Amino acid sequence: MPYQKFSYAPRTRTGETPLKHSIIVHGGAGSGKYGAGDARFRGLLRAVDEGVSAMKKGSGLDGALAAVTFMEESGLFNCGRGACLTAEGKVELDAAVMTAKGAAGAGVGDVTCTYHPASLARWVMENTEHVLIVGERAKGYARLAGLKTGRLRPSPAAKTKFEALVRGGRHAEAVALARRLDGGGTVGAVALGSDGSPAAAVSTGGMWMKLPGRVGDSAILGAGIFAEPGLGAACATGVGEEIIRCALSMRACQLMRGADAAAGARGAIEHISRSRGKGTAGIITIDAGGRVAASYNTEAMGRAWWDPAKGRATAAV
Ligand code: ASP
Repeated sequence: MPYQKFSYAPRTRTGETPLKHSIIVHGGAGSGKYGAGDARFRGLLRAVDEGVSAMKKGSGLDGALAAVTFMEESGLFNCGRGACLTAEGKVELDAAVMTAKGAAGAGVGDVTCTYHPASLARWVMENTEHVLIVGERAKGYARLAGLKTGRLRPSPAAKTKFEALVRGGRHAEAVALARRLDGGGTVGAVALGSDGSPAAAVSTGGMWMKLPGRVGDSAILGAGIFAEPGLGAACATGVGEEIIRCALSMRACQLMRGADAAAGARGAIEHISRSRGKGTAGIITIDAGGRVAASYNTEAMGRAWWDPAKGRATAAV
């Protein structure tokens, strides 16, 4: 199992009490490892707790969205308040949500009006017949969704990094750095609540120094996110263009047929490694039984999940 870096299966046998809730989150696949002392490590654990508490009253979708919303707000990850910047030094966000219940979902791309594009995606899913809204017009929908809108400001850390990248005309180097992902930082969650429908949410600033107007996998159902009735849900991170070419999240869900979350994650990453190379992606999965798994072909991927045996969240990078 060359790419299966992690797999966790809380329940496998029949006849056991079904899980009330199950969730796994990620904080991006990339080259940067960090330990338990890092704020992002604690952020991942807290995101799981947020998801679990939302699922006590709500669905798997409520849980996945609550986890992602916490990470958007934290400023610790490449999403929401902590997003990376375009080649023009601006914030342009992508996000999506999807639930196996009715195969409902929607994405939003190139969002420049709210730090919470995943909530906007949920509004699009629940209030329109569309699956993708991009650009400036998202602002009107964000207002209808009751989200706070305004011009998105780069975080101080992102601004400093941008200035260092462009200083001395190092644009080519900056793009190369972006290709290496530099720690990733996109966030995602897949969850199963007592409603029994696997669901997913994802949110990102995209890739450092991306061209303005670029939309990546995180807005695209089937690529950065997917949920399939009876099978499970998946959420990817990594080089968006490669993930789209592989329809990676849909592929992971298909691979769970007659198998489990671990088979979906492992098979999807084996596929993208073979067809597009290593250093391209990571993925988290949940199957219809609530088993969760993660797999990646990068150096690291921060992730955390609810461990029912310990009754608390556990994280690894
Ligand atoms: N997949 C994201 C994108 O290409 C980036 C990431 O996951 O780090 O927009």
